[in-house]
Amino acid sequence: MNDRRLFEVYLKELIEWNKKFNLTSITDPEEVRRKHFDDSLLLLRSLDLNDGSVIDIGAGAGFPGIPLKIARPRIRLTLIEATKKKVEFMRHLVSLLDLQDVEVVWGRAEEALAGRREQFDLAVARAVADLTTLAEYCLPYVKLGGQFVAYKELAIEPEIKRAGNALKTLGGKFNRIDKHDARSLVFIDKISPTPPNFPRRSGMAKKRPL
Ligand code: SAM
Repeated sequence: MNDRRLFEVYLKELIEWNKKFNLTSITDPEEVRRKHFDDSLLLLRSLDLNDGSVIDIGAGAGFPGIPLKIARPRIRLTLIEATKKKVEFMRHLVSLLDLQDVEVVWGRAEEALAGRREQFDLAVARAVADLTTLAEYCLPYVKLGGQFVAYKELAIEPEIKRAGNALKTLGGKFNRIDKHDARSLVFIDKISPTPPNFPRRSGMAKKRPL
């Protein structure tokens, strides 16, 4: 199947499954294309992503990871998601679209690190948590020299400022914000190893932000 066809099947399956399970609040086809597919692909305007390993934390119904995989088939993709139904949807889709080198993990980011710690060139996350909490979910997965990119709303500067301590503690360094349409992409570089006591046990990153 070509990319166009893969996105059409994705759209159809998303709308179909959404009748039974709450995967997304967006159900109008044109809106799905714009707010899920196109939005997920904005990263490609900022980053020369061709291959390498990518992890999507809190991927939900596959965003942004699966659109990125469709557009850049050579990436090796891991999707982590805590909600079982969403994991089942992604597994169904990966099989239906015959996507290769995709791993779909059911679990919380804080608990899925075994064998995956500091293994990824790139971690991405969209609409999962405040940047401080998100950094504790994502940075442990990123290898030294790799990056973490958070898909955020336009007015993101105060949130970045608040995340300063978390980034420093977890081995990250703010690189830049790229603004596209209604989206800010926040780039964090992994500059030193994440200390082994992070992430803290499940729920702590959110309950007691660094
Ligand atoms: N990234 C998708 C998107 O942009 O459409 C989903 C966004 S949804 C608002 C947030 C998702 O993150 C939910 O599906 C939730 O189950 C998942 N999530 C939240 N905290 C998580 C954690 N600690 N580990 C794994 N998944 C998590």
